[in-house]
Amino acid sequence: MIEKSINIEDVLSLPLDPKEQKKAVEEKVPCVAEGRLKVYDPNTNNVKKFLELLQSRLNRSVVGSMTACVHCGMCSEVCHYVLARPHDPTMVPAYKGDQIRRIFKKHFDWTGRIIPWWVHAGSPKNDEDMNRLKNIVFGTCTGCRRCTLNCPMGVDTAILVRLTRGLLTELGIVPEGVFVVSKDQWETGNQMGVTEDEYLETLEWMSEEVGEEIGDPTFKIHVDKEDCDFMYTINPREVKYDPRSIGHAAKIFYAAGESWTMPRWGWDMTNFGLFSGDDKLGAFVAKNLYEAAKKLRAKRIVISECGHGYRSTRWEGYNWAKYSQDISSESVLVTLIRYISQGRIKVDPSKNSLPVTFHDSCNIARSGDLTEEPRWILKRVCTDFREMFPNRADNFCCTGGGGALSMVEYKPLRMEVAKIKAQQLIDTGAKQVCTICHNCVDGLGDLIRHYKLDMQVVQVLDLVANALVVPEKKEEK
Ligand code: SF4
Ligand code: SF4
Repeated sequence: MIEKSINIEDVLSLPLDPKEQKKAVEEKVPCVAEGRLKVYDPNTNNVKKFLELLQSRLNRSVVGSMTACVHCGMCSEVCHYVLARPHDPTMVPAYKGDQIRRIFKKHFDWTGRIIPWWVHAGSPKNDEDMNRLKNIVFGTCTGCRRCTLNCPMGVDTAILVRLTRGLLTELGIVPEGVFVVSKDQWETGNQMGVTEDEYLETLEWMSEEVGEEIGDPTFKIHVDKEDCDFMYTINPREVKYDPRSIGHAAKIFYAAGESWTMPRWGWDMTNFGLFSGDDKLGAFVAKNLYEAAKKLRAKRIVISECGHGYRSTRWEGYNWAKYSQDISSESVLVTLIRYISQGRIKVDPSKNSLPVTFHDSCNIARSGDLTEEPRWILKRVCTDFREMFPNRADNFCCTGGGGALSMVEYKPLRMEVAKIKAQQLIDTGAKQVCTICHNCVDGLGDLIRHYKLDMQVVQVLDLVANALVVPEKKEEK
């Protein structure tokens, strides 16, 4: 798999392009006009603001990662950017962390005052330096945390990357895609700017499709139904590009005789705040969802297939929103396991006979420790399941993590480093790669097209729905 290596200077010197920011100001988009989403101001002292913000964000876990690195280099052995570009020192996780570490040392650490030359203390001088920092933290790291697991000192480079992203987001020094997706989520409550009409029409359409398939024209996906066993939350990509996955879930819930609903507002369990480092956006999105579940008196929140959505909804969101966790939540995988193990649904694995492997999403496996559940299901709904190596918490990122899919300017680098993942997929000999994340579907899809692999991406809900033995009409609870 020979891929021409791109010139990293072309990436690190990509200019700031605030066209969309200017448009949002002119159009008086509420989140911008009200200052919830910041735009770049060339007439302010951005370096000074950056340092003030950094000081306000220092806490024990951040300072630990700022001070503990001993530059042993072990993180460089596991990052897919380094493995794909071993000649390039800027790909090393410790180098990426050093870009914020040197600023911390210069301004907030005694080592920077006494021995600045020893600890490479330094400060950004102008907006050009800040822009370069933007290209490093948004363009050369997917926040996958593979390096975190390999660091003997407990340094979490992804935390430093997210922190730096968040500071730059407060100054509007961000890739255009990050600004646009943040704006959409602030304005519409979801990352893809899906309107309420679009959402409700899609649910109606899926109700009809499922009703036809199961031979029950009265079947309906309920919206805002109170006192259900769970409230189902999804990724907006499901409405925009893959409504089948909503239909698949609905068909399975029907077969299990489930009492469930979807909310009219607060249905997006993804959260761009995790990627942009904007805790305020993170809090807004997570709170929408928690409040919806509370209002509907749902007993549980069930989270559809999404890596960063799972992480944001299940634990990060409660911290960002300072919200008490009084309604439990679970991945739809746990729901499916309950159905299969309790005999509430019947599955026929012979319906999925192609060789299938499994890609662990970083946020679910490495950060969430949910690794055995998808395998438990796959071994029951497919006839030829094959492990990919390495796997579970050691798996490689799909290369679309950390919001990378929204930043088109970094795609050439992303595709180059994707050769590590592509080789992992080829080695399995599988014809299908299953994942439990819509973001990974697109990340894997990009690299499958780029490297012309003979493989398709599927999700657990697709395979379970395909293997489902649909029962006679059930009485809905
Ligand atoms: S493994 Fe940890 S201590 Fe070693 S260079 Fe990387 S971040 Fe620093
Ligand atoms: S978080 Fe992942 S992409 Fe970022 S430096 Fe670490 S291993 Fe590399």
